[in-house]
Amino acid sequence: MRRIDLSLVETGSCWHPEIATIAGGSWRPAVFPALVGVITHPGEGTILFDTGYDPTFTAATRPLPERLYRWLTPPVITAPIADRLAAGGVDPAGIQHVVLSHFHGDHASGLLRFPNATVHCARAGLASVWGRGRLRALAAGTPAGLLPPDLPRRSAFFEDQPVVPLPSDLLPFESGADLLGDGSILAVPLPGHCPGHWGVLVHEARGLHFLVADAAWSSTAIRENRPPPRITSTLLGDTIQGRHTLSQLHALRTRNPELILTPSHCAERAAAEAS
Ligand SMILES: [Zn+2]
Repeated sequence: MRRIDLSLVETGSCWHPEIATIAGGSWRPAVFPALVGVITHPGEGTILFDTGYDPTFTAATRPLPERLYRWLTPPVITAPIADRLAAGGVDPAGIQHVVLSHFHGDHASGLLRFPNATVHCARAGLASVWGRGRLRALAAGTPAGLLPPDLPRRSAFFEDQPVVPLPSDLLPFESGADLLGDGSILAVPLPGHCPGHWGVLVHEARGLHFLVADAAWSSTAIRENRPPPRITSTLLGDTIQGRHTLSQLHALRTRNPELILTPSHCAERAAAEAS
């Protein structure tokens, strides 16, 4: 795999009871950060893995019924990635690639801020929210108004990219989709959380790093193979697929403790990256 630089940025966070995310969790509200991967590629410049929370989310969830989303998972938006990049001298309009794990609002809210980017995503993910009408899109976790009107024209689907074998130390995961054709970003299906849910593997300075998006809400869930309760996984996606994906990540973690695994909302990983 071609090596790249990666940093994780916390765009904000939301609160909900821990028990909604992990079997045996507490009923007390817990903080779940919304992390974005910022990749620096030698040829393609800055590439994003997800876009996290953005003020677009606030605007899109102002009316009813979209406001229900905000009530269920109240966010605090601290550092929208587009603003963060602009403050660092990177023009969001110049970003050429955004990789989207899935279309839930806490991952896709920043898309409108990157009007010229190719959006790498799952065809199945886009199909689950595009042209579905306001209520069905909301039920799928994507409030109306979050997605750019020209998104289908700018999409490049994971399913269409060349499939390459993964290194044997990543078993039970065997192959990935080579998004840029140079082996630098390999997308891996992680089914179950919702339709068209994928993660990415990159080789960064510290070694292999698997950004697993919402295949788990915490590193603890992967270490201990503790899925969310059935009521959560059934509401969002496919419980059986999600539990299989989590058990695969648990097996990978057990076989390869050196690998860095980052769930998008893991407070432990966010703290480790901030320190
Ligand atoms: Zn999600």
